[in-house]
Amino acid sequence: MLRKGSKGSEVKVLQQRLLKLGYKLPKYGADGDFGNETDAAVRQFQKDNKLVVDGIYGANTSRALYSAEHTTPHFVDSEFKCHCGGKYCNGYPVAVSTKLKQLLEEIRTEVNRKYPLSDGKKRGIAIKSGIRCKQWNAKVGGSSGSKHLLGIAADITVSGINNDTLGKLCDYMNPNGGVGYGSGHYPHVDVRGSKARWKY
Ligand SMILES: [Zn+2]
Ligand SMILES: [Zn+2]
Repeated sequence: MLRKGSKGSEVKVLQQRLLKLGYKLPKYGADGDFGNETDAAVRQFQKDNKLVVDGIYGANTSRALYSAEHTTPHFVDSEFKCHCGGKYCNGYPVAVSTKLKQLLEEIRTEVNRKYPLSDGKKRGIAIKSGIRCKQWNAKVGGSSGSKHLLGIAADITVSGINNDTLGKLCDYMNPNGGVGYGSGHYPHVDVRGSKARWKY
């Protein structure tokens, strides 16, 4: 936990991360000294992220900071939260892969290029299953080696596009990852780093 009065390299790293996200430390910069200026920046960050505004850099603020650093234009961590509903985990037993979000951005772009809506609006990708804790994975019948356990997989859907069509598009867009699809299952994509394909 860091707060006003804290000093040292951890404070410096925090200040550098805040600066990178656009929070201003005009007078002192990243000087490793948690003073009024850093306190104000942390409070502003907390306000922007709907956290308790206390100027204390603790677990919740740390999580939100990580999340802010790993957000892509159309995907946020909460969409990937484990669906056990708090029964077996806090929703985030692992981090959501930034690479996965980037892949989903690319798939989203391709979906809108190939299947544009006539009114000019953009189609969005909904995450049906993202992270799974071990217990939840077992409950929904996931394999013990499921990439959902690692935060690098998502089962997705796009309104107005059927599973098969979307699956084929994912197959094309994810040459170095896993893709499983079929008419009766939301397409699965993952960023395992090698090509894997299967049918549902
Ligand atoms: Zn869970
Ligand atoms: Zn899956």
